[in-house]
Amino acid sequence: MTTITDNALITDSQIQKSTNGCTIKTNGHAPATKIQKPTEAEAEAAVRTLIAWAGDDPEREGLIDTPKRVAKAYKEFFKGYEEDAIDILSRTFEDVGGYDDMIMLRGIDMSSHCEHHMVPFIGKVHIAYMPSEKVVGISKLARIVETFSKRLQTQETMTAQIAAAIDEGLQARGTAVMIEAEHQCMSMRGVQKQNVATITTRFTGVFDSNKDLKERFLGLIKNG
Ligand SMILES: [Zn+2]
Repeated sequence: MTTITDNALITDSQIQKSTNGCTIKTNGHAPATKIQKPTEAEAEAAVRTLIAWAGDDPEREGLIDTPKRVAKAYKEFFKGYEEDAIDILSRTFEDVGGYDDMIMLRGIDMSSHCEHHMVPFIGKVHIAYMPSEKVVGISKLARIVETFSKRLQTQETMTAQIAAAIDEGLQARGTAVMIEAEHQCMSMRGVQKQNVATITTRFTGVFDSNKDLKERFLGLIKNG
């Protein structure tokens, strides 16, 4: 279930609700079963069909190169299918001078495409984990946000996937992930509501069992 609030952080009980029913469709690895990829010409033909479906003429001058550009843009929008989050997290450091507290990245920019309408949802990701022996370069956490966001997604699935990848890749004692995003499928179509933040959370391990730790994570986001 998605918790929708009006630009406000949500209460603990709501957070619980938002994490329930989260299903992880793929784990941190790149999808195992590769589909037969169409050719670039086939992809461009599909874009021409959609232009005509929208009501315009795919042959008019301004649109003539659009299918090529869209096909190219799709490679960038969906480059996450080529990446493996567990691989990205595999270069870890063990010498951390005894550091054993929370490691947190707040406010990682995220842009993705919703799998229901293929329109963008854009927002911020906050990640924290409690290391066991291994820590990872902090830029790698931002990288895995890229990996999962550059796929067709739901915000709920992505939240769970990021947490699962950190748990698996770093054998963390616990992971906390919060995503706040605005969905253009809500602001541009359907109910047409602007500035509504959808907030999803996932807490594993010590973040799930230790209420104080969870509060600390949420507090650090709020005070940012
Ligand atoms: Zn949508």
